[in-house]
Amino acid sequence: MSSIFTKIIKREIPAAMVYEDDECIAFRDIDPKAPVHILLVPRKEIPSLAQVTAEDKALLGHLMVKASEIAKAEGISESGYRVVVNTNKEGGQEVYHLHLHILGGRQMTWPPG
Ligand code: 5GP
Repeated sequence: MSSIFTKIIKREIPAAMVYEDDECIAFRDIDPKAPVHILLVPRKEIPSLAQVTAEDKALLGHLMVKASEIAKAEGISESGYRVVVNTNKEGGQEVYHLHLHILGGRQMTWPPG
C-alpha cells in the first residue's frame, strides 16, 4: 500500500527536496528532531527494513553511500550525525515506506528513547 512518501516521490504533495536520482529521493523532515533532519527514501515501495531481501542489496548500499554524501553536503559529516531506520511498531516506525533518517547539527544521546 502506498504511503505519503509515494505522494512526495510523485510530486503530488510538496517537500523540501535535498537530493534525487533514479533510485532514491531525499527531503527535509516536516517535523525535524535536529537542526538537520533529512529523510532518504528509495523510490521502490519497500514497507520497512523487515521486508528487504537479497534483491535489495545494491539499493541498500546505494542509500548508505548517499547518506554519507548528503551528510557531507549538509556540513555535518565531521562533527557527526546519526542514521536511523525505525522498523515496525516497537521501532517507532510511522510511515511504512522504508526510509533513512539523517540527523545532525546537535549532540545525539545514547541510548535512544
Ligand atoms: P518514521 O517514524 O516512520 O521513522 O518517520 C516518519 C517521518 O516522516 C517522521 O519524522 C515525520 O515527521 C516525517 N513525515 C511524515 N509526514 C511527512 C510529510 O508529509 N512530509 C515530510 N517532509 N515529512 C513527513
